[in-house]
Amino acid sequence: MVCVCFLVDQKRVMRRSKPVAGMCSRCHGGAWVADMQTVTRFCYIPFYYKSWKAVVCSLCGSILKSYNT
Ligand SMILES: [Zn+2]
Repeated sequence: MVCVCFLVDQKRVMRRSKPVAGMCSRCHGGAWVADMQTVTRFCYIPFYYKSWKAVVCSLCGSILKSYNT
């Protein structure tokens, strides 16, 4: 019997945000600048974190702009 544990997924976490001037092109919601964190997990164990900044829509959650820091 072979037990293969091969499950990699990524989770995006928004850590904090504040309103910023701008508007969403899809739903015309307000734009927020947020500190994002991408967590890569292997078998539900986080092993890689990446932090980045992005401007996101407060209504539909789409990413309007992202920065690599
Ligand atoms: Zn939107």
